[in-house]
Amino acid sequence: MLETTIAGSLPKPFWLATPRLLWAPWAQSGEALLEAKRDATLLVLKEQEDAGIDIVTEGEQSRQHFVHGFLERIAGIDFDHKVRMGIRNNRYEADCPTVVGRLRRTGSVHAREAALARAHTTRRLKFTLPGPMTIVDTIADAHYGSRVDMAMAFVIQFDEPAFNVYMDDVREWGVAALHRASEGLTCTTAVHICYGYGIKANNDWKASLGSEWRQYEAIFPALAASRIDQVSLECANSRVPAELMALLRGKDVLVGAIDVASDRVETPEEVAATLRRAMAFVPAEKLFPCTNCGMAPLDRGIALGKLAALAGGAALLRRELGAA
Ligand code: ZN
Repeated sequence: MLETTIAGSLPKPFWLATPRLLWAPWAQSGEALLEAKRDATLLVLKEQEDAGIDIVTEGEQSRQHFVHGFLERIAGIDFDHKVRMGIRNNRYEADCPTVVGRLRRTGSVHAREAALARAHTTRRLKFTLPGPMTIVDTIADAHYGSRVDMAMAFVIQFDEPAFNVYMDDVREWGVAALHRASEGLTCTTAVHICYGYGIKANNDWKASLGSEWRQYEAIFPALAASRIDQVSLECANSRVPAELMALLRGKDVLVGAIDVASDRVETPEEVAATLRRAMAFVPAEKLFPCTNCGMAPLDRGIALGKLAALAGGAALLRRELGAA
């Protein structure tokens, strides 16, 4: 009960990429880069295990960014022609590769990373991938002429921070694209919908959203009716009303109890308090303590502290419930 997991990314060591940056440049190239990615993957698995995280990830150590890391192995995308464009409805700008032809998967995208992680942990493993709506919001289109057509070209799963920006699109085609992406999968499927990494543009946007964040209210009913098993959301230090989680009845809920936009490490008691608020609306057997979002831009020491706090808070609550 209350198995802990993280949203996905973890900070990369300095010998792999520049610390405390999103889209951080690699510190190595060629063979040395492959070796550094592999070493960092083993390291973050061990650190999660030591911290007491139950369902671990490879921390996205092999990807410069979760969207573009995935796209590097998709044909039809030109990485040499990046376009500076506003993403997440112009919340911030990013250099985005251009779609120049039909999008085609030419082989397994992250098979090597997944196999490496699987070989080096006996814990349950979660592998994160960007979802279709977020991908098409992070590339420049010079081929399809329609976001919907471009999104339907993907067969993958699912980090969808864009779901909190385009709520009408989620109902109209976002969930349909997720279903298409998950066709044939027999594993547990999850969709992570957050308010973004703890970078300035996102923090400013959150400050503009008013006293109550009700974006989830518009999309949870469609997700509750979907075939996706788990929904990962942001709860720590967020202004999301806890009762919105009741709209996810029947789903596993990954409750974000770690704030990734703050360098302050939560206490286990604070984590437990966030989880307790969620438990009023999510049964304990459906509740998975998690982080608000990925931790890639954080200092490594702080991220480690937050992992331990997450595991500690979940343990506290398990003891309270007599399920240690
Ligand atoms: Zn996120």
